[in-house]
Amino acid sequence: MAGIDIEGLATVYPNGVRAVDGLDLQVADGEFFALLGPSGCGKTTLLRTIAGLETATEGTVRIDAADVTRTDPGKRGVAMVFQDYALFPHMSVSENITYPLKVRRVAAATRASVASRTAGELSLDGLLERKPGQLSGGQQQRVALARAIASEGKVLLLDEPLSNLDARLRLEARTFLKKLQRDLGITTVFVTHDQAEALALADRIAVMESGKLRQLGSPREVFARPANTFVANFIGSTPMNLIPGRITEPVDQGDVVVSVAGGSLPATTFVAVADVEVTVGIRPEYLTLTTNDVSGPALRGTVLVAENLGTQSLVTVDCDGTLVGVTVPEEDEPAAGTAVTLTAPVSRVLLYDRETGEL
Ligand code: ADP
Ligand code: MG
Repeated sequence: MAGIDIEGLATVYPNGVRAVDGLDLQVADGEFFALLGPSGCGKTTLLRTIAGLETATEGTVRIDAADVTRTDPGKRGVAMVFQDYALFPHMSVSENITYPLKVRRVAAATRASVASRTAGELSLDGLLERKPGQLSGGQQQRVALARAIASEGKVLLLDEPLSNLDARLRLEARTFLKKLQRDLGITTVFVTHDQAEALALADRIAVMESGKLRQLGSPREVFARPANTFVANFIGSTPMNLIPGRITEPVDQGDVVVSVAGGSLPATTFVAVADVEVTVGIRPEYLTLTTNDVSGPALRGTVLVAENLGTQSLVTVDCDGTLVGVTVPEEDEPAAGTAVTLTAPVSRVLLYDRETGEL
């Protein structure tokens, strides 16, 4: 088992694209780590640079404390699963799984026992003689995982391994993968553009934008306290409300009332402020909707539309021309046109710098 230590890493393609642009991060031994970000942000390039399939332009990659920045991919002790699985179509499942062992000249009898054991772990029993073309997408995905695990790398690198599966199978495979990773205890870096997948699976998440790290934290931290408006926009199944606001009274530090959307909300500032423009961030899940009158800071508006999300409804409220989203239990969904009041606890209202978008 092994940790990964990345320092000042940059990967520049021959055409000048800085796909990874100065990155520091550590993945702990045995950790399930997610790299999350929009398409094109450099996730695959970072993974391939850790694996040695791309050459680092600057910085270092250490695996299990050894500097492998210039080490051949085959000698880094990493196993990678590619987004398209990259199975050998002319080889059987068994041959696919044990190919890395064959390359290392492991004896045939040993390979056969590894194939049957790994097939058992990944629910592929009975499929060992089939060719990849005779398997479903979910089975192919498990063969790719089996091949990576059978190679006995110290580190498992997974590039969007679930993205080719349909929605239902993806959920099943997600649960399966989480349990497998926990049972094996192997250090795993999981790349995804799907924030729900990252939140569900990972011990920690690194959110990337344009080759840079925008936040690193536990799923709880990045959800409840996005460090900037980019992460705030990217994480969450309902979009976070990000609304222009203003603090008018001067405060040293502590609780303030922020003017926003024709009303006001309580918030906490960690720096001294006096008449400053901010972006107010509040998740729809953290707002409370009521038709009663409320004293203290609140937003007032009219229900525009409500969308059923299953057990919850997402209600869009027009507050003085600003649209604010709030989730309510499905049975409490108000009719369009209802006059409502929205409140939020001070701990849930985040203040972002209007210029930089940082907390
Ligand atoms: P992601 O996996 O997050 O979608 P990639 O790592 O594939 O992102 O790509 C990051 C950036 O590098 C993109 O701008 C992409 O166009 C560029 N890129 C990827 N591969 C190459 C390549 N082989 N040559 C040149 N540019 C590339
Ligand atoms: Mg990619």
